[in-house]
Amino acid sequence: MRIGIVGAGIVGLATAAALAAAGHEVRCYDSGEPMAARSLGETRIFRTAHAEPGMVELALRAQRSWQRWEKQFGTRLVDPVTTVLNGAEATVRATAMQAAGAPFSLRDDAAGLGLPASDPRGPFLVDAGGGVINVTAAGCGLRETLGSQVRAHDLVRGVDVLGADHVRIAADSGAWDCHAALLLAGAGTPALAAAVGIGGVPHGRWHSHRFTFALRDASARPPCWLERSESWRAGVTSYQHLVGPGRWAVGASVPDADSAWELGRDGTRNRAEDIVRAYVAEQVDGVVPDVLDTISCDSMNLGDGLGFGRSGPVLALWGDNLMKLAPLLGELLASAALDRDREVRDDDVPHLVATE
Ligand SMILES: Cc1cc2nc3c(=O)[nH]c(=O)nc-3n(C[C@H](O)[C@H](O)[C@H](O)COP(=O)(O)OP(=O)(O)OC[C@H]3O[C@@H](n4cnc5c(N)ncnc54)[C@H](O)[C@@H]3O)c2cc1C
Repeated sequence: MRIGIVGAGIVGLATAAALAAAGHEVRCYDSGEPMAARSLGETRIFRTAHAEPGMVELALRAQRSWQRWEKQFGTRLVDPVTTVLNGAEATVRATAMQAAGAPFSLRDDAAGLGLPASDPRGPFLVDAGGGVINVTAAGCGLRETLGSQVRAHDLVRGVDVLGADHVRIAADSGAWDCHAALLLAGAGTPALAAAVGIGGVPHGRWHSHRFTFALRDASARPPCWLERSESWRAGVTSYQHLVGPGRWAVGASVPDADSAWELGRDGTRNRAEDIVRAYVAEQVDGVVPDVLDTISCDSMNLGDGLGFGRSGPVLALWGDNLMKLAPLLGELLASAALDRDREVRDDDVPHLVATE
């Protein structure tokens, strides 16, 4: 079959690779450079710790998919430093992990965990399967595998359904007729999906910024850390992890009013930087509170929510925090595109809206 994919972020590339491996002719379009929108940057956090057993099970399956990619690309893609989550949510997520059979421990204090902060508030959930995803290596591996099937700087202006097995993709490089199309275009998905009758894709966009600091101990290898206690300031939580030797990234979930789309990228970056620098200076004594670099992009503010829709031969997937699930999403979406009788099952994609 010929299958077109709109979007060469991690989800589009993962899906294209799964389809190409099954012998299908694939074109994966991106309006800009692949992996340069929501998939931008060197690293992300992998975790199985979620609030609901269905999501934990999905993450456990994704963990096996990451291991398959590691074998295929011959390199480590998830550095197993573990992931720690603290605050009241820790017990909720521990319950979900127990129900799903994911390995974890729950403890009252942070002694021995290696977090770069001297006095974080518990309880602490240690997600034994968590770690740092090497996004650069995953993206490079996928692009090498796909070669010229990835079409960079080729904007898709529209996708038309011409029959049960006939889709026309109108791209800047020209029109391409194929049997099915997948809309995996991040911020571009709502408009493309609406035009083919896939409703319900959230349109909301918020700015998201992540800042890198130097670890005082350059040889330290702290676990990834989801600081959810709000002990520093109500409404502010953060996610933190090692992005490279001696380099510690901190992103904050700030109030909607500080990340609203209308405020623009620079305005929201300044607000987020003020919040993160103040938090780091007061609470994260293992890092030097000077920003070394920043990555910025947009998000839908869905937390761990994701959704899926189909209109005949066109499929769409949207959501946030998709990196950790990407190789599995690629496999699921490839099989959904090939098998018209098989919808992506409810237990494959359990969240249509945010629940966390
Ligand atoms: C700072 C930050 C930290 C994050 N931390 C984590 C984390 O720790 N763990 C985790 O799991 N996730 C995390 N995420 C989320 C995760 O990175 C994203 O959910 C994931 O990368 C999204 O991938 P995607 O392929 O869906 O979208 P994208 O990477 O945005 O890819 C979509 C692509 O479609 C292209 N496109 C759009 N419209 C068109 C069009 N009309 N024609 C052609 N191409 C088009 C875009 O150029 C883009 O490259 C984080 C995100 C950010 C920004």
